[in-house]
Amino acid sequence: MNSKEYGKIWRANNQEKIIKWRKEFCRVNKDKLRIMDREVDFGGNWKKALDRDNWTCRHCGKDLTKYRPNVHHKDNKGHSVKKKKADNSLKNLVSLCVSCHRKLHINLKRLEQKNEL
Ligand SMILES: [Zn+2]
Ligand SMILES: [Zn+2]
Repeated sequence: MNSKEYGKIWRANNQEKIIKWRKEFCRVNKDKLRIMDREVDFGGNWKKALDRDNWTCRHCGKDLTKYRPNVHHKDNKGHSVKKKKADNSLKNLVSLCVSCHRKLHINLKRLEQKNEL
């Protein structure tokens, strides 16, 4: 049995304990968690998506370690669908700089409006 499997079994047997720990952790680290919120929004994949894209904007190639990084949901549902329902799989996430992200959404909105007509 590898450690991954072991962890899975352990978690299954100790669910109540884990929930209690988590609650306690949230209570103690409220402020810290607020900062991490955005990562949680993306199911923990926010940073992973940036790592995969080498912290560069996939659209214009800007170095996102120097600019504020954004991560966009390719299915365009990340901002509208309830957070838990958003598809946060890495293949649905793309790293963008703020300006490319903004432009992309303006274009998407235009398309949406066109389709509604
Ligand atoms: Zn860009
Ligand atoms: Zn977006």
